[in-house]
Amino acid sequence: MTNAADNSTVTAPPAQAAAPKKSGGAFNRETVLEVQHYTDRLFRFRTTRDPAFRFVNGQFAMIGIEVEGKPLLRAYSMASANYEDDLEFFSIKVPDGPLTSRLQHLKVGDTVLVGRKPTGTLVQPNLLPGKRLYMFSTGTGIAPFSSVIKDPEVYDLYDHLILVHGCRQVAELQYGLDIVKAAKENEFFGEIVREKLIHYPTVTREAYVHQGRATELIESGKLFEDIGQPPLNPAEDRVMLCGSPGLLRDLVKLLQDRGFREGSGGDPATYVIEKAFVEQ
Ligand SMILES: Cc1cc2nc3c(=O)[nH]c(=O)nc-3n(C[C@H](O)[C@H](O)[C@H](O)COP(=O)(O)OP(=O)(O)OC[C@H]3O[C@@H](n4cnc5c(N)ncnc54)[C@H](O)[C@@H]3O)c2cc1C
Repeated sequence: MTNAADNSTVTAPPAQAAAPKKSGGAFNRETVLEVQHYTDRLFRFRTTRDPAFRFVNGQFAMIGIEVEGKPLLRAYSMASANYEDDLEFFSIKVPDGPLTSRLQHLKVGDTVLVGRKPTGTLVQPNLLPGKRLYMFSTGTGIAPFSSVIKDPEVYDLYDHLILVHGCRQVAELQYGLDIVKAAKENEFFGEIVREKLIHYPTVTREAYVHQGRATELIESGKLFEDIGQPPLNPAEDRVMLCGSPGLLRDLVKLLQDRGFREGSGGDPATYVIEKAFVEQ
């Protein structure tokens, strides 16, 4: 079993990666190919992907495991892009959480259920054309943007993509640093990523190059000074939000005060929003 606090990667041998999958009902049964733990609160894992499972970058699906013969499922954003052969998920570990108290012990070869009906609001058709795409995230809220920043078509729509990722501690930024590095090094679209993607990791509880909540960084103007872009304005900027309920509430107010309007399918506008989790 993988040590939940160990920052290690376990990868399946190729034979396992090619193992046949069983599917049926509302879920595909996928096989875990790789597990990597970042902190005692965060890990990522990759699974096989049923070729018939299609999604738009930025969407989520219900995923989980079988417990006592019944599916135990939660919403998870796909962190892999929709053209990749495997699926990737970036997960919290809630010590007494019904799903993640178990999911954090996943091992290569285990089965994960993946619902066949992806959905979500963090998709380009819900936004009007714009010059810059801001993606504001906290914690695991970066997961949907992991697929967006790997989508070459999104780079064609904007002059710049700005990914803001806020966490409490520096170690919690590592997943974001890894996905941005990989996108910049991609042999097919790395050049456009290096040209257009601005990554702004920031922490609230430790010393770091960038510090503070997204709301404070916007209000003080520090974010825009640091990245060399004009302050947020609805004529040019499009915004995607995925984070804690508290941050979303504050950011939505801030955006609405500046004239931004929420977009949806059939009524595209200037910002879209998805909760990274629901408070109980
Ligand atoms: C649209 C959507 C997409 C989501 N995508 C992801 C994702 O990509 N990765 C992911 O890890 N989770 C994601 N979640 C949260 C996920 O659905 C579960 O809540 C999470 O996996 C914990 O499940 P659980 O059964 O262990 O605990 P739950 O009973 O679901 O949650 C218990 C408590 O833990 C806290 N909590 C739950 N999830 C998180 C989180 N992600 N970050 C911080 N605190 C949390 C909350 O306070 C919650 O009340 C998403 C939720 C929604 C609504």
